[in-house]
Amino acid sequence: MRLLLVEDDPMIGETVLDVLRAEHFAVDWVKDGVMADTALRSAPYDLVLLDLGLPQRDGLDVLKALRQRKDSIPVLVVTARDAVADRIAGLDAGADDYLLKPYDIDELLARIRALTRRSAGRADPVLEVHGLRLNPATHEATRDGRPITLSNREWAVLEALMARPGVVFSRAQLEEKLYSWKDDVSSNAVEVYIHGLRKKLGAELIQNVRGLGYVMPRP
Ligand code: CA
Repeated sequence: MRLLLVEDDPMIGETVLDVLRAEHFAVDWVKDGVMADTALRSAPYDLVLLDLGLPQRDGLDVLKALRQRKDSIPVLVVTARDAVADRIAGLDAGADDYLLKPYDIDELLARIRALTRRSAGRADPVLEVHGLRLNPATHEATRDGRPITLSNREWAVLEALMARPGVVFSRAQLEEKLYSWKDDVSSNAVEVYIHGLRKKLGAELIQNVRGLGYVMPRP
C-alpha cells in the first residue's frame, strides 16, 4: 500500500516515515500544502496522513480541493490543533478520521488499517482468499494454517492482489503500490516478486494474463 505523509515538522515526519516503512508501506513525504496538492494529483495513494498547519497552503484547503475534484481517497487528519471547531471543520471538509498530536504510534497504525479496510469495502481485518490469510495487524501470513515468510514487497504485492481477487493489475499499477519516489525501481522488479510468491504459494494462485498483468483468481 502506498501512503502520502503530509507533515512539516521534521522530527515527527522522520519518526512516522520510519515506522510506516517498517510496516510494509511505500511512503512519500511532503512538507507543505502545495507539494501535498501536487502529489495527490499525480499518484494513486491508498491513504493520506494530513497535517493541517502547513506552510504555503493550509491542510484544510488541500483537503477541500481534494474532495471538490471528487477524489475519495481516505484522509486521516493528524494535527496539533485541538479546538473542537477545527476538528469539526476538518471532518466537514471531508476527513475520514482525526488524530491529535501527540498521538500514540500504535493508535495511528490501527487507524490506518481501519480506514484502508473500510475504503476497500471490507469488514474483516484479515484478508483471506484460497486458504491464504494475511493479517495486517500482526504481519502473519499463513497458507492452510501453515506460516509463510514474505519479504515486505512480496507482502505488498500479495496484499494488493488478495484485496481484489479477479481484478487484473498491470505491472505499472503494482509498481505504484510498491514504490515511493525515492525508491529505485528496476524494470523487472515486479516480476521478481511475483516469481518469488509463486515459488512459495504455487503458480496457480497468481496468474499471468498475457500483455495485461497479474490476477488472483476469484475464490
Ligand atoms: Ca504542522
